[in-house]
Amino acid sequence: MLTSVRPADVIFEINLSAIQPNFHTISALVGPQVRVAAVVKCDAYGLGLLRVAGALIDAGCDLLFVGNLHEALLLRSSHTGAAVAVLCDEFARYGGDYRSNGLIPVVNNCFELDAIGTAGDPQAYFLSIETRLSRLSLAFDDLRRKYLSGSFKQHPPSVVLSHLACSERVGDAMNMLQRNRFLAMSDVLKPTLRSLAASAGFWLGTPYHFDIARVGSALYGLNNAGIRPNPLKPVASRRAKTLDVRKVARRKAVGYGGTFRTAQASRIASVGIGYKHGLPWGRANKVSVRLAGYSAPLIGRMSMEYTTIDITDVPEALCGPGSCVELLGEDLTVDDLAAASGIYPQEVLTRLGVGCARQMRVLATIRAPSLAGAKRPDCRVSR
Ligand SMILES: *Cc1c(COP(=O)(O)O)cnc(C)c1O
Repeated sequence: MLTSVRPADVIFEINLSAIQPNFHTISALVGPQVRVAAVVKCDAYGLGLLRVAGALIDAGCDLLFVGNLHEALLLRSSHTGAAVAVLCDEFARYGGDYRSNGLIPVVNNCFELDAIGTAGDPQAYFLSIETRLSRLSLAFDDLRRKYLSGSFKQHPPSVVLSHLACSERVGDAMNMLQRNRFLAMSDVLKPTLRSLAASAGFWLGTPYHFDIARVGSALYGLNNAGIRPNPLKPVASRRAKTLDVRKVARRKAVGYGGTFRTAQASRIASVGIGYKHGLPWGRANKVSVRLAGYSAPLIGRMSMEYTTIDITDVPEALCGPGSCVELLGEDLTVDDLAAASGIYPQEVLTRLGVGCARQMRVLATIRAPSLAGAKRPDCRVSR
């Protein structure tokens, strides 16, 4: 099924049927004892919250993390089946919305924790603790104080989580340091389920898996940990049309700032895609795109709506105005683009949907494999 949001020359295609095998691959990697929760914050990393969440729920995912309450309510409006946890909670302010929609706040500070305590009926919540990322999350001193005052005895969290700062580097001592801190701090809160690893973290091995892996980027095909060969499929592809083809003599400048000069008489195509469509500006002169099965280097500085490519090596009959250029796909992945432009892959991915139509490709709906007999952690989320 191919659903066009609106006719457009720049197409951002999201292959939902690659997200589902990615979910199963990660589930198999961590084993049946570990629940794989999908992180769908930031509009599912720019890929479209509702369709992506639907595909993941169809694949058997039953716990999703969103970035804020707005996303949680949007998700609830069409998907009622899975548990939804809100990473940046604001429970103190919007407790009523949490309750009426069966949402789980991820508590990051004492103020929110107190609101859970005074909420009346017991409220299921996850607790995020600070182990060295220095970003949100309950600090050690606050945890200690709240523990001594009996807060957690009265209102225990369903899940204790923390976030790794350097999990992309397997050998980084910070990983073990954070794990040790996480163990020591979460032990105090027993009995709970624990969650430490995100996408790069699950490659660190079983000691980092605990009960729940919170996975975003890897589901969408990113390979932050640089695993070779990468068993996860790319999800995003990007195509645009050539608007113009022209011959340019040797030693002529192409594009703003004259950052590129032709080494020989060349054929140059202008493609109708630019940085307004979320492409990283700095990647010109560093990567090649595909046209009719041929490789065509991106040359000159990218402009707001246009990009120039060198098509000297592509047979003339195969490329005229209106030819389709593949700027992202199996041959040139988000990770490749990120490496060429020095921008973090997640940042590249979340920007890609800007200014163009998103099309969802669904080749087949894949149902979850049977987990009969597998031990799955119970999240104890009352809804
Ligand atoms: C974004 C986020 C994740 C997912 O990170 P990925 O590296 O994309 O898998 C997991 N946990 C928390 C707390 C996050 O903020």
